[in-house]
Amino acid sequence: MKNIVKTTDLINGWKKLGLDIGDKVIVHSSLSSLGSVDGGPETVIKSLQEAVGRSGILVMPSFTYGGGPFHSETLPSVVGLISETFRQMNDVYRSWHPTHSFCIWGKSAKNWAVIHNDYHPFADNSPIGRLYKNEGKILLIGVDHYANTMIHLAEKFVAVPYISGMSLEYLDDNGNIRKVTSPWRPGCSKGFNIVDSLVRGTTSWRSTTIGKAECQIMSAIDVVSCATSLLKKDKSALLCNEPLCEWCLNAREIV
Ligand SMILES: [Zn+2]
Repeated sequence: MKNIVKTTDLINGWKKLGLDIGDKVIVHSSLSSLGSVDGGPETVIKSLQEAVGRSGILVMPSFTYGGGPFHSETLPSVVGLISETFRQMNDVYRSWHPTHSFCIWGKSAKNWAVIHNDYHPFADNSPIGRLYKNEGKILLIGVDHYANTMIHLAEKFVAVPYISGMSLEYLDDNGNIRKVTSPWRPGCSKGFNIVDSLVRGTTSWRSTTIGKAECQIMSAIDVVSCATSLLKKDKSALLCNEPLCEWCLNAREIV
C-alpha cells in the first residue's frame, strides 16, 4: 500500500534529520499527523529507539494536567497516543511531577526519572533541564512550537513576571490525596510559534516530510536562545493574541 507509513519511512526520515546513535532527544508528536502508520504508535517509538540506540536518551512528555491526582504508575498521559503508548512500554521510566511528568528510555533513563526539584516542572534535574544541559535535541512530529515545552525554559531564564505558583495533587501509595506546592504554573503556549522563523534560521534546524507530517529537529540550546532573545526585547513576546485567552490577557497586564 502506497500511503501507509512504514518503519523504513520513519528510519529514513530520522536519518535525514540527522538523528543519530547516542543522541538525547525529546519528542513531541501527533500520530494522526503522519497519516496511517503500519503498526501504529509502537512502530514510531521503536524506530526512534533504533535511531538513538541504548546509548541515547528518548524523552516524551507524559503530561496529565486535569486528569486527576497524579500517580506515576496509573495516571495516563493526555498528550497523544504515541506518548501514552511509550509510557506503558518496557524499560521506560517516568519522572515525578503531578502535572508535567516525562517518560524516559535509554542510557541513565532511571537516573533521569526523579522527583523534579521544588516540584518545578522545568527544574534543573527535570528531563527538560537535563536535555538543555546535555545539548539535547527536540523532534517535532507533525506539531508546531505550541507543543515545544523547552520554550518554557526561556521564560524561566528571563524570569518573566507573569508566572505564579500552583498547588498540585497526587495520590500516595495508600490511595490518599496529598498536596504539594510548585513555584511555577506553566502558562499558555499558543503564542510560542513566534519563534518559528528564528528557529528555522538556526544551524541545528532541519525538516523533512514523513507520511503527511512535517517533522522538524532542532537543538534545545538554539530554541531557548531564540525565545530568550525575543523575551529580552519584550517580556510579553511569547503571549498569544487570542481575544479570549484569559491567561495571556492577565499576563499582559502584569508585564
Ligand atoms: Zn494565550
